[in-house]
Amino acid sequence: MFSLRNIVKLKYLFISVIALAFVLSTLISVYSNYKGNMKLMQEQTLENNRVYALKLAETVDKFIVNSTNTMRYSAAEIAYDFENINKLQEVANRLYLQGDTFSSVLIIDAEGNIIVNAPQSLGEAGKKALSTNGMENYDKHEPFISDPYISPTGRKMIVISMPIYDEQGTFKGFVSGSIYLYDSNIFESILGEHPYENGSYLYVVDNKGKIIYHPNKASLGADASKSEVVVQLLKEKRGALEAVNAFDQPMLAGYSQSEKTRWGIIVQTPYDEALSMVGQQVVSVFKIGLPFILFSTIVVFLLASHIVRPLEKIAEITENSVKDQEMKKLKGIRAWYYEVYKIQEALIHSFSVLHGKVNTLKEETSTDSLTKLLNRHTFENKVKLLTEKKKDYTLVMLDIDWFKSINDNYGHIAGDEVLQVLASKLKESLLEDDLACRYGGEEFILVFTETTIEDAYERVELLRSNVQQIISPEGEPLTFSAGMANYPLHGDELMAIIAKADEALYKAKDNGRNRVEVTNA
Ligand code: GH3
Ligand code: MG
Ligand code: MG
Repeated sequence: MFSLRNIVKLKYLFISVIALAFVLSTLISVYSNYKGNMKLMQEQTLENNRVYALKLAETVDKFIVNSTNTMRYSAAEIAYDFENINKLQEVANRLYLQGDTFSSVLIIDAEGNIIVNAPQSLGEAGKKALSTNGMENYDKHEPFISDPYISPTGRKMIVISMPIYDEQGTFKGFVSGSIYLYDSNIFESILGEHPYENGSYLYVVDNKGKIIYHPNKASLGADASKSEVVVQLLKEKRGALEAVNAFDQPMLAGYSQSEKTRWGIIVQTPYDEALSMVGQQVVSVFKIGLPFILFSTIVVFLLASHIVRPLEKIAEITENSVKDQEMKKLKGIRAWYYEVYKIQEALIHSFSVLHGKVNTLKEETSTDSLTKLLNRHTFENKVKLLTEKKKDYTLVMLDIDWFKSINDNYGHIAGDEVLQVLASKLKESLLEDDLACRYGGEEFILVFTETTIEDAYERVELLRSNVQQIISPEGEPLTFSAGMANYPLHGDELMAIIAKADEALYKAKDNGRNRVEVTNA
């Protein structure tokens, strides 16, 4: 069993369902928005990094082209004057100081001897250029860019070298510039300061996958050739992919290889960092939407209340039972949609039927079926009400004279008809608030309210003469005898008054019948 208390009201049910639908759809839209933006952000980050890596690779190429052009120019400049040490020193100094490109500059002769160095403090002049000076391609007499290596002075560096030929095409030596990888160098100025705000950073690998530039100096020189991005870079030259870095951190990486140096530029953004922005975006979208959500919640709430209102009213009315007043209210409800209209119609119908039944039932239980006068039980209750209201009354008890002989001679049905005719005469004699009751077989009681016993007596006398107009089946005038008593004059409660009136009735019978007696008690 469930109690009424546990039954949820439609309004709350309605609002809850709407709220649920609201929350779910908001969650779904936030979620799909989030997912969609994640994908977008991921693609965008990959694309940005790819384009950026490409741009930087081009910049590196331009730098290399510029540098080699400068070197070529310098090489041409000194080719005719190779014996002039001062000239060589001047050119070396210029290359060293120009544009902050090189950390050091050497000019080497055809035998591999270092002729001049800049800065001069380097102290390499007069020494033999070794393969460890990045001169492993010395014999080829071609322009080249070295792999990163550690110099005899313990510096990690790369070297860009340009052969010197005179007009006859005779190889004279090399002009060679080094870039120290650990110091602040040209890469930093080309590639910019990293890492960026969103955790992005870039690094550069040589054509074998060795790291030659990295914001984290500890990674310099490390072999990255096995890393997924570098493998892809060496294979495809340019592109973007999602891969883990050396610390197993997922990254969104763009990569591109410089054509001149075949160095690979890798720009990467931590996956989590890139996508944390999406979370922030969703939160800010949600914040912007919040007032609208609140507004629509209120609108929905009001709308739900409006829709539920007629049903609520109907529920209230049915709760308050089936009084006439409630019926009026029920009819007054504005049924503005189908279901309420139907419920209202059904309730009005069933209430009307119920009202009819209740009224018939009331009548049946309160009256005597033959005469339709009050039955004894209802009569006693009504008199009690009078007493409670402190209303005075005169009680008349009457009994048909010689009734038995009507029954005996003409039968019960004729007797019943006489009872019915008499009953209607009694009813006619009543004023407002008076009562008429069939007390026993052919005994009746009348109660006259708010009247003196004298006036009551007059009225019973009048009634007696009226009843005499009725001709009994025997062809005789119908007569009755009556006894009267007054409340509170002759007793303080109904039974006492009845007893007194009964006594008086007996007296009337004894005194010859067809007469009215007042108790003398
Ligand atoms: P009295 O003048 O002394 O009153 O004479 P009476 O014949 O009327 O005597 P009594 O009042 O004792 O008679 C009651 C009779 O009323 C007895 C019974 O047959 C009859 N009676 C009682 N109830 C009914 C009824 O419902 N229908 C009919 N037809 N007769 C009834
Ligand atoms: Mg009798
Ligand atoms: Mg009688």
